[in-house]
Amino acid sequence: MNPPDRATARCLPVVEDDETIGRHLDTGLRGNGYAPTRSRTGSGALAEAARSVHDVLLLDLGLPDMDGLDVARTLRARFPDLLIVILTARTDDIDVIAGLDAGADDYLVKPFSLLLARLRAHMRRRTITSPPREPIRLGDLVVDVTARRCTLHEHEVRLRPKEFELPAVLARHAGEAVSRETLMAEVWDENWFGSTKTLDVTMAALRRRLTGPVAQPYRVPRVTTLRGHGYRLELP
Ligand code: CA
Repeated sequence: MNPPDRATARCLPVVEDDETIGRHLDTGLRGNGYAPTRSRTGSGALAEAARSVHDVLLLDLGLPDMDGLDVARTLRARFPDLLIVILTARTDDIDVIAGLDAGADDYLVKPFSLLLARLRAHMRRRTITSPPREPIRLGDLVVDVTARRCTLHEHEVRLRPKEFELPAVLARHAGEAVSRETLMAEVWDENWFGSTKTLDVTMAALRRRLTGPVAQPYRVPRVTTLRGHGYRLELP
């Protein structure tokens, strides 16, 4: 790969208090076209995130001043469009699920051999400039892929980045079975292998939003789970 051009390097906040891991990340990211800015504390991370608009932020969970989950929650509330990728040494399911529930979009278990590939996949999805497409109507729910808006009878439904991409993919195949592998590949990473927990958690969050009190009076599509295969979006 050619050395990255500093002027076009993509600013990437990294929140990591461990010096060895932090340096390793800095070097790896700089060599691959990113301009990482490192914070060593949760409060530093919140300040850095507010300094300018970022696409993605990498977040360690074990920080000296705050619980990383609280940092994720605060970032999610303040920056709905920020992709939050948790860097964790914790591999227990419960921690990963807690991280995703706190608002993260993806997680990577240290030592991050997949980090660069996953980041490229996230970035590619962000920078795809596709021609404008007609909004998809599903009963009273409208998914406008071009504007990245989801509305329910004129009311905007606030969705996190991956919660938006899930119905956008399912809607393109409304009424058809879509496999877990297809969803992981289209919404997260085309080279996905391994756990698909992140899909389950994101789907659960999406369902809560589509069945909550706000949605009650309207005709909304239902997502049916197909055991051992995937999901199907049912038109209302
Ligand atoms: Ca740490």
